[in-house]
Amino acid sequence: MYYVDPHIHMVARITDDYVRMARAGCVAVSEPAFWAGFDRGSVEGFIDYFRHLTEIEPARAAEFGIHHMCWLCINAKEAENVSLSREVIAAIPEFLDRPGVLGIGEIGLNKNTPNETTVFQEQVDLAMKTDELLLIHTPHLADKYKGTRMILDVLGSDPRVRPDRVLIDHVEEHTIEHALDAGFWVGMTLYPLTKCTPERAVDMVERYGTERILVNSAGDWGPSNPMNTPDFIRTLRKRGRSEEFIRSVVYDNPLRFFSQAKGFNFNPPVSVRGSRAGGLDLVPDDTAVVRQAR
Ligand SMILES: [Zn+2]
Repeated sequence: MYYVDPHIHMVARITDDYVRMARAGCVAVSEPAFWAGFDRGSVEGFIDYFRHLTEIEPARAAEFGIHHMCWLCINAKEAENVSLSREVIAAIPEFLDRPGVLGIGEIGLNKNTPNETTVFQEQVDLAMKTDELLLIHTPHLADKYKGTRMILDVLGSDPRVRPDRVLIDHVEEHTIEHALDAGFWVGMTLYPLTKCTPERAVDMVERYGTERILVNSAGDWGPSNPMNTPDFIRTLRKRGRSEEFIRSVVYDNPLRFFSQAKGFNFNPPVSVRGSRAGGLDLVPDDTAVVRQAR
């Protein structure tokens, strides 16, 4: 089955990951801007990173038949430096009209501090002024419940925010309902150690259905695995779920959410097009073309 990984940091992954993903049926990815593993020293570091996300990585992905889209922002960890954050926020608009830019993300909270909240609000404001989608990172482990509530409060208090244009990511059993009930899209992250296992994610779609739910590997430079999305597909098949049910979560939903973005530019190749449902091209079989890398 063809699938989309709607949250993966390919700048941190090796070429073999692109090959494995393409062989497993991945046809498109979206890469949110995030922390590089260290705090960058100046706004120039972010400008180079935005060039990497909008120029270099799409070309690299295309070598393997994978369409690459991205999100731009300053992440919650580096948002602790408010003055640098404001320089980065001022630099973002010139990149927003580039092809494949889906919106502002992944913004949100990390340790739920006042500085993080300030920068989060300023980036929500930027997204509203520029009519961009939002992709929201919710904090890890112990900080997740409180941070998610704080994020939902900020979004709920801004009347310009339309929940159907916002994805709340890294939801777990104790936060998914709050986000879905408020009308947001949600992302479940399949991580080997923290966040969700494929089995826990399957339990959640069985409980809440497929509407407005995405799954992603959030693969980055830490313990993570791009093959977790195909594992999720296999786990759903083992539980007897229909191909249509599975495809709605791993293919239709991410494209439906992304297609609201001004910069959405994924046009499935002819080999991927099959029957049509919900206005989206659906996939007919399990053949993925892996082009030879240079
Ligand atoms: Zn991420």
